[in-house]
Amino acid sequence: MDQSSQSGLRFRGRVFLQGEVRAVTGLHIGGAAGALAIGGVDQPVVRNPLNDQPYLPGSSLRGKMRSLSEKFLGLPFNRQISGVRIHSCRTTDSYRACDLCQVFGVPGSERGQVDFGGPTRLLVRDIPLAPETVQQLDALETDLPYTEIKWEATIDRITSAAVPRQQERVPAGAVFAPLDLIYSVYETADVERFRLVLQALALVEDDYLGGQGSRGSGRVRFEKLTLAVRNRARYQQEARWDTSGDMRPADLLARWDTLKAWLSQQLPEA
Ligand SMILES: [Zn+2]
Repeated sequence: MDQSSQSGLRFRGRVFLQGEVRAVTGLHIGGAAGALAIGGVDQPVVRNPLNDQPYLPGSSLRGKMRSLSEKFLGLPFNRQISGVRIHSCRTTDSYRACDLCQVFGVPGSERGQVDFGGPTRLLVRDIPLAPETVQQLDALETDLPYTEIKWEATIDRITSAAVPRQQERVPAGAVFAPLDLIYSVYETADVERFRLVLQALALVEDDYLGGQGSRGSGRVRFEKLTLAVRNRARYQQEARWDTSGDMRPADLLARWDTLKAWLSQQLPEA
């Protein structure tokens, strides 16, 4: 028996939001320093070990979408995970009333904590470098494969000595694709809750991804967004939302009423 049937929810279908992520400024999403084979930079980016190309981990994007949404909605930061304060509902009642926890899920359950039985609605896949960007960067002589090194100095406050540190970044203009967000719909309220996902992407555009955001790194844009739906009755057959032009999160939010009506129609009660 799966979680959804336990809680009385029945799977209706999925919404597929795809597109591209453009690095407007250099982007640093950290990998493990020890894992870097070449260069020995202090702060390497995360790379796919199979092709050595940087990628954008779905968990990083999803985590940022969640944390910005928590602040935007003014939710209480009522839990600490590894010293980081986050919002996470602790009771079934609060969970049922909380759109954010239903969309993004409740992080790893603590010992003895109740399982609210609700499925996490949003899944974000890892996003590879787009082939055109790989080609462009292959043709350039970058500091390290596909990346640049940004030098920063930390000034010792007592001696005034500058301690140089290198940070690896994917250069500005790089495109990651496909952006691939998968959103499961179980109940009528989930259609309305999808707005949170679009809102979260808009919030990330106004903020940053990865490290050194306050120093200018990590500004991104979500571009060429498309939407498709597969419902339970005909899961093999995809219905695409008719969009023209280069849609960004704000464009989809501006069309929310039309989009919501279309989603409701595509995802009828099972
Ligand atoms: Zn919550």
